Amino acid sequence: MHFIPPLDPASSINAETRRLSLDRLSEEPVDVVVIGGGVTGTGVALDAASRGLSVALLERDDLASGTSSKSSKLVHGGLRYLAKGDVGVAWESAVERAHVAGRIAPHLVRPLAQVVPVYRHDRGNGLLAGLGFVAGDILKVAAHTKPGLLPKPRKVGRDRTLSLAPTLDPDGLVGGVVNWDCQLEDDALLTLALARTAAYHGAHVLTRCRISSVNNTGVTFIDGLSGETGSISARWVVNATGVWAGSLDPSLTIQPSRGTHVVVRSAALRGARASLTVAVPQHFGRYVFSLPQSDGTTYLGLTDEVVQGPVPDAVAAPDDDVRWILDIISRPLARPLTMSDVVGTYAGMRPLVLPEGSEEATSDISRKHVVDREDNLITVTGGKLTTYRRMAQDAVDLLTDRPCHTTEIPLVGAGPDPVACDAPDRLRQRYGSEAGTLWTGADGEERRTIVSGYPAHRLEWRFAVEHGLTLTPEDLLDRRTRIGLQPPLRAEAMQAAEQLTAG
Ligand SMILES: Cc1cc2nc3c(=O)[nH]c(=O)nc-3n(C[C@H](O)[C@H](O)[C@H](O)COP(=O)(O)OP(=O)(O)OC[C@H]3O[C@@H](n4cnc5c(N)ncnc54)[C@H](O)[C@@H]3O)c2cc1C
Repeated sequence: MHFIPPLDPASSINAETRRLSLDRLSEEPVDVVVIGGGVTGTGVALDAASRGLSVALLERDDLASGTSSKSSKLVHGGLRYLAKGDVGVAWESAVERAHVAGRIAPHLVRPLAQVVPVYRHDRGNGLLAGLGFVAGDILKVAAHTKPGLLPKPRKVGRDRTLSLAPTLDPDGLVGGVVNWDCQLEDDALLTLALARTAAYHGAHVLTRCRISSVNNTGVTFIDGLSGETGSISARWVVNATGVWAGSLDPSLTIQPSRGTHVVVRSAALRGARASLTVAVPQHFGRYVFSLPQSDGTTYLGLTDEVVQGPVPDAVAAPDDDVRWILDIISRPLARPLTMSDVVGTYAGMRPLVLPEGSEEATSDISRKHVVDREDNLITVTGGKLTTYRRMAQDAVDLLTDRPCHTTEIPLVGAGPDPVACDAPDRLRQRYGSEAGTLWTGADGEERRTIVSGYPAHRLEWRFAVEHGLTLTPEDLLDRRTRIGLQPPLRAEAMQAAEQLTAG
């Protein structure tokens, strides 16, 4: 297995590589243009480039600026699909989880305990969850998940349940059921690691380039920085624009569904490291979770609401969604969480592909991905973050007979760290094998935090600008770090972000 050396120039993408790529692409045709820099598009770019095709990826905004920075950040084994009887989708999730956690990006993935509390008045809830967890465990083993990564699900007593979720109401609590799944450090970081690994394999990666039209010979685009129009000749075009895929391939009907998350300080749940998992009444197999993050916050989510009308560029989290999440998660708590606990929110749109004539609720539409071909345009959408690799493989299989080997390609940061040092855990969890080089290369000033009250170091932003195609203050605040989720911290950090991305 080949590991990419830390900060290898071939894996660095920045304003300068963007400029050089634009020059090259104005003269040289490529085999494939990939449209969309989410997890799917970056996955396609890596797959195609690693099979020896010449590739240009164009994203209209920032990498992961669409749905891929707004997920629940779970690389999950497909339990929720099992509950709906969608065994094929559940199996694919379990297999892909094993690839991502095993070889592709083990540094970005960690086990997460999920606790379903069982109360005297509702023992059936624990029984149902337990049955689902056992089925999920069978899939885990069959999918060759790295042994020891995820412990077996089990029933736990009342005291253990309370130690895992200390804010539960102890009155009537008889115990709990614990399951283990995989949590990503950050979905935007996974997307960036995919883009950098694609660049290492020769792909051109360009952000702030919006595709305005696709034709038989390639694409035209508008450079969002210069305002100029350009064109790229390509044999194939892959449309990986997620929820916006219908605008380039009108044969598909995409029904966006809004998923909202609420951000609270982890202290509001007394620092619980486990994910509290609460059943949504009258919705079989549907849960609201708490998802503790490594930055001292916990996300609570999530909703599944149809977005009516034309697909907007972005969605905000409505107060009704926030109240619904707080209401469900608070049901088993001794003290309900309220609006005053909320420090931020975010919402994203699921790209659900609507079968013709479908009248299903969005939560019932299959999460199976779709690959559609119209002449030289391949559209790949639907699916989920966990299965991005399989989606990319299915799309690129239509372009070439050369075999796919992305299950064997570790992303940048996935190898052993060659520098022995005392880099903080935060850096190891986010940058893996590059953490030591980053930490030893930073002076005292850069080792300080960007703002007080948030654990990100200044060196992280410099790294993002030099190696992570970061062009605007929003890229730094909202995707290279999550400072931007908390409005007061965002305001405090804005000036530093502006200075770093100026010119
Ligand atoms: C709230 C929520 C929670 C979720 N949680 C999970 C989870 O925990 N685990 C999981 O596995 N899945 C999860 N999912 C699903 C998963 O996040 C998505 O399936 C996945 O991120 C979609 O990635 P994508 O690359 O296909 O789309 P996107 O990330 O949306 O990328 C599409 C990109 O195309 C760009 N684009 C659009 N038009 C153009 C154009 N004309 N020119 C250039 N670029 C263009 C956009 O700017 C965007 O960046 C969740 C989804 C939601 C909404």
